[in-house]
Amino acid sequence: MNSMKYIDLTRKLKNNILEYPGDPKFKLKAINDKNSDYNLSKIETGLHIGTHIDAPYHYIENGKKINEIKLEKLIGKSTILNFKNKDKISKEINLEDLKIVSTNIKNSKNCKTNKNENLGEIAILKTGWSNNWKKENYFTENYYLSKDFANYLIENEINGICIDGPSVDKFENNKIHKLFLKNNIWIVENITNLNHLRKNSYFGYVIPLNIDAEASPVRVFLSKEK
Ligand SMILES: [Zn+2]
Repeated sequence: MNSMKYIDLTRKLKNNILEYPGDPKFKLKAINDKNSDYNLSKIETGLHIGTHIDAPYHYIENGKKINEIKLEKLIGKSTILNFKNKDKISKEINLEDLKIVSTNIKNSKNCKTNKNENLGEIAILKTGWSNNWKKENYFTENYYLSKDFANYLIENEINGICIDGPSVDKFENNKIHKLFLKNNIWIVENITNLNHLRKNSYFGYVIPLNIDAEASPVRVFLSKEK
């Protein structure tokens, strides 16, 4: 459910939520006995479950862990990048495939001269792939970013990227992860609920646990007002 003021882009963590192929399952269990007058639960999970954030340490030696990412890097102006060319055969998303409102990307080959202040701190990539969440190919046939597109975002000095699919990379690849993470750009995967967004720019919040690890479940939400 979304409140009046905020739009929640997060998947609910619950038993049987799908995990990335090969990752540990999410297990939530009540551990109080039936006669007690309280509830007490425990969880066991891989950290890359549901809507989650990857810190540089996921792939970069001595890279920042989740608890080392400054809070000011996790909130800010968030631009929705709409993938529009859904009929193309390749799942690789290039700059040409995007409709970035209030920005003007004509010369994608020359990113250096193409810095655009309007992108803000957080790029939210809307591919529509989240509609396939329950399908068998969700984790394996997702849309992913081209190197040019990733470099464009890096040169625009975003703090982080959120995508409505399982990865910024093609299945069983990691070069786009490494590109972002080595530039200290965090990655949020498996966001949802983008279908009803009406604007192209919001104020966004990305709230992970204060955890000494390479990843964390995360709550991502947008403010309607700013
Ligand atoms: Zn991850």
